[in-house]
Amino acid sequence: MKAVTYVDDGTWHDGNPMVLGPMSQSTWLGSLIFDGARAFEGVIPDIDLHCARACASARKMMLEPKIRPEEMVEIVKDAVSRFDGSTALYIKPMFWADSGWIYPDPDSTRFLLNVFESPLPGDAGFTACVSTKRRPAPDQAPTDAKAACLYANAGRALKEAVDKGFNNAVVLDPIGNVAEFATANLVFAKDGEVHTPIPNGTFLNGITRQRILGLLAKAGYKVHERTVTVADLKEADEIFSTGNHGKVQPLTKFEDQDLQPGPVAAKAKELYWAFAHGDA
Ligand code: PMP
Repeated sequence: MKAVTYVDDGTWHDGNPMVLGPMSQSTWLGSLIFDGARAFEGVIPDIDLHCARACASARKMMLEPKIRPEEMVEIVKDAVSRFDGSTALYIKPMFWADSGWIYPDPDSTRFLLNVFESPLPGDAGFTACVSTKRRPAPDQAPTDAKAACLYANAGRALKEAVDKGFNNAVVLDPIGNVAEFATANLVFAKDGEVHTPIPNGTFLNGITRQRILGLLAKAGYKVHERTVTVADLKEADEIFSTGNHGKVQPLTKFEDQDLQPGPVAAKAKELYWAFAHGDA
């Protein structure tokens, strides 16, 4: 799979260039942030929001970006133009600190953009069980940043689920309510209405989540952002994920219960595609 990297010294590289050194503060202690966006079918939906979130995540991790989100968008467009457009792309900007000791020196904040081919998953959906690993509270970890350090726990949740024969995990918040999937937000439908955990600071309030909830509400769906329990999921007519990587993906099995991909997930995907292509 082709990959292209832009580094903040103005250089472009193919493949997987060595950029972070063993002495980088972020290599050592993890004060690195990234964002994830997609280019597909000639569009890069919400790229301005993804670049703005990357800068905001960096500041929450005590980094100080030297690049503005609008400049990042131009570099993303340049990177995307280096591909032939036949395969969907994953767009991954990163900020990290080169120096500092226990906390990063903000003046040493570095930036790179990594873009690589990564096909969108199809519509087959995925299975999930409830994880024993939980999302931390906002005073326990930088939950409002897309900080790499949070993904060690997301990885533990995912691996635990895979070892049990599932594709993904439903991760609970610190008091046991549903937060999200390991790396995507969770939405369910019951009697034609849309329900999703209310952002309580424990999970990433995804750009795709906000976009899709807005599109569904505009299309006339009642959208309830509220406390969601595991028992609510067991009663759901359909459950799906939202996230930049897979966009809208139906859940086909939750714990021991089979589920059918449903009309609300299909509508969410249709509305998102229309938005992405400028038709909404
Ligand atoms: N939660 C987590 C933990 C994630 O990693 C992601 C993917 N960025 C999401 C939710 C979905 O967010 P978005 O729609 O902004 O990609």
